[in-house]
Amino acid sequence: MRIAITPPLKFLEKLRRVLLLLLLLGNLSAALACTGTPQVSEITVFNADRAFRDLEYQVQLGPRIPGSSAHEQVRAWLISINKQSGWEMEAQSVIYQGNEIHNIIAKREIDQHLPWIIIGAHYDSRIIADRDPLPENRSKPVPGANDGASGVAVLNEIARILPADLQVNIWLVYFDAEDNGSMPGGEWILGSRAFVEKLKGTPDAVIVVDMVADRDLNIYIEQNSNEDLAAEVWSVAKSLGYEDTFINQPKYHIIDDHIPFIQAGIPAIDIIDFEYRYWHTVSDTVDKVSADSLGIVGRVVVAWLLEKYGEDN
Ligand SMILES: [Zn+2]
Repeated sequence: MRIAITPPLKFLEKLRRVLLLLLLLGNLSAALACTGTPQVSEITVFNADRAFRDLEYQVQLGPRIPGSSAHEQVRAWLISINKQSGWEMEAQSVIYQGNEIHNIIAKREIDQHLPWIIIGAHYDSRIIADRDPLPENRSKPVPGANDGASGVAVLNEIARILPADLQVNIWLVYFDAEDNGSMPGGEWILGSRAFVEKLKGTPDAVIVVDMVADRDLNIYIEQNSNEDLAAEVWSVAKSLGYEDTFINQPKYHIIDDHIPFIQAGIPAIDIIDFEYRYWHTVSDTVDKVSADSLGIVGRVVVAWLLEKYGEDN
């Protein structure tokens, strides 16, 4: 494990430099977006509107229930668009506890001696809206605008804009079968469990994003998460002025795709807004979520990566 706490002064000083660059170059992001893989010297900005279009696309495909054609289509789409962004793609298909699991992995490997970071999100959506207030809706599928599509949208946009010369190996992992627990033959977080079981080597840190597009975004420190890593990320969020969204208080213990990593001794956090009233209902739809929220979370994750693995480090 290589997560070290940077001394606060050095940390803030470096972060200020990153922020300055982000501000100076913010208006160039659109121009740079179409010029191929960006370098650290031409930092691009997380484009929240483009990320939001990815969210809308997934919802429009229909519920991404394992075994459905929308589930298959989203996998093909993820492989295609991330290839276009210059990432090496792997489709990991395994049978895990009797379930067919299809994780999609985007890899950017620079040098095996450098640190290795995983950013993850689940792409499946829940087969039944079992928390819907109306009993007649509880056998219907969840549209998964926030619960599923939002994390994927953040990863896709990170894939587009992340500078290629960061001093780190990065995998973006789209987990299957996170959200079909509590059903006959179903369990939670199957995709990430299967992934960690097959994992060779030890990533230095894992950040999972899930349910990050609520219009009223409130992200507390999830209490199963690695404390040091959470402190770093929440500190970056504060420096970006997002302390009202990334609330620096522990709240909730959540079973999400970070858990198999933590159980394997790998530092991992879950960035999740668990105060979403449409969670596991048929109302988890595009009108309940926003590009601004995706942008906040995306910028925080990118700023953390730049701060730790940018050219000055
Ligand atoms: Zn869910």
